[in-house]
Amino acid sequence: MTVKNKKLGCVYLIGAGPGDPGLITVHAFEKIKQADVLVYDYLANDAFLRWAHPSAEKIYVGKMSGRHSLPQADIQKVLIQKARLGKKVVRLKGGDPFIFGRGGEEVNELVAAEIPFEVIPGVTAALAAAAYAGIPLSHRDHSSAITFLTGHENPEKQSLSLQFADYAKTDGTLCIYMGIGQLARIVNELITGGMSANMPVAIIEWATLPQQRSCYATLDTIVDRQQAMGIRAPAIVIIGAVVAERVRHNWFESKALFGKRIVVTRAREQAGALTKLLSEQGATVIELPFIKVEPDFDPVTLSEILAGIAVYEWIIFTSANGVKQFFDLFYRAFDDIRCLGPMRIAAVGAATAKAIQAHKLKVDFIPKRANADALADELIASEGLESLQILVVTGNQNRKSLIQKLEQQGRAIVDTLPLYKTSQADLSHSEAAASYREKGADAVLFTSTSTVKSFVEQQAALKLEAGARQPIFGSIGSLTSQSLREHNLPIAFEAEKANLQSFVTSTTAALNEQ
Ligand code: SAH
Repeated sequence: MTVKNKKLGCVYLIGAGPGDPGLITVHAFEKIKQADVLVYDYLANDAFLRWAHPSAEKIYVGKMSGRHSLPQADIQKVLIQKARLGKKVVRLKGGDPFIFGRGGEEVNELVAAEIPFEVIPGVTAALAAAAYAGIPLSHRDHSSAITFLTGHENPEKQSLSLQFADYAKTDGTLCIYMGIGQLARIVNELITGGMSANMPVAIIEWATLPQQRSCYATLDTIVDRQQAMGIRAPAIVIIGAVVAERVRHNWFESKALFGKRIVVTRAREQAGALTKLLSEQGATVIELPFIKVEPDFDPVTLSEILAGIAVYEWIIFTSANGVKQFFDLFYRAFDDIRCLGPMRIAAVGAATAKAIQAHKLKVDFIPKRANADALADELIASEGLESLQILVVTGNQNRKSLIQKLEQQGRAIVDTLPLYKTSQADLSHSEAAASYREKGADAVLFTSTSTVKSFVEQQAALKLEAGARQPIFGSIGSLTSQSLREHNLPIAFEAEKANLQSFVTSTTAALNEQ
């Protein structure tokens, strides 16, 4: 293959697995993090999009409500066009790209266009569904062959693509993708072809996700069972004697918070940790973004400050966000951490300090109380700042009195570098908020007084629709409970100890009591 354009990028055709973000490969994870462009076409788990660099272009080419997906030819054009611009393009596909995913066609087009590519496999839905339902797909006594079949090649086409009767005599396991729409016909053909009407069958819907459901029956009863439970696509149908060998304890669907919808807010750095703990217990976590943080800085001020960065004797960070924005911009301007100079570093609190330490920089000062005023008072008292040059890296909030104190009481020479702005998120455009309004939740967890305040302020955008689940309210500790009471919100439970693990334990107890 001749490469005409030196700037050619590369397309990574990546299998994203069945849904649970943890099931993606390490290889795929790394490519997503490095991607310049992310092209995805299924209900991608939010996590994948968050792994991408904030500046990465994200292109959704899947079905929008009511509309069809972008035609395959157009998707192909996007991939080729972006790669020709020299970009690293990640094409994320559900499950494995080469299993009923038209990956082969996409790769052939890339070859024809002389675009470099790599293919990264993913956990295909049949394997994931079997594992998460506890069904061994092969068995020494019952099944020494496993067949992947498709009910129809394309969801818009309502015909069977295979003669299922041909598979009726197998003594192996059949795994059927896209089989729900035509299930009655598939079953009929198998029975007509000679498969026993008593053959065990399982259907696993939304495998590996918190809304997973599974149903079990025999060949002649499975259609009734599927209809009674209202099982729909995406689902995998597994047919074979191995279904009877399944592990009786459904490890996944019996997790303590399985099937529960729990709201946490993304207003604080710790939201990620809480989400992780709840998800590990099987909960569907709805992260409401109450606060929007956006880069916002004056490029001239920034370049002046960066040019003279080494003159500062102190640099003060007032938030983890500020740290992140600062280092993103710093590394764009310099490729050596020593360009920062010999300054000392102060952080407003533990989360900010942690973000600084992630850059292998020591934090010289953290106030006893984590707020900007305390930072100024304590720094002046313990260090004496007179005539020292100080850089304060901030957002658009809580900086006035900090700077005043440093200048007037501390008599320091202060430059301020505002890098981002925080504003109330517009929940009318948030998918998480829409899902909350429509389906409600089992619990809303409040981790601070500010999350209570935001929840109340955003009431209008959080009004539950008729039929939505009414949540109970949980509080992480006494201050937060106090704030809930002040706003007349009923507290159903409070964490025994004010930490996240204890909060999750109390949530589990409260929800399983109901
Ligand atoms: N390339 C994908 C399959 C795409 S075809 C893979 O390797 O898994 C889409 C079909 O895959 C769906 O109709 C359904 O049958 C199956 N599927 C995908 N994700 C699934 C999930 N989480 N649970 C159950 N079935 C799933």
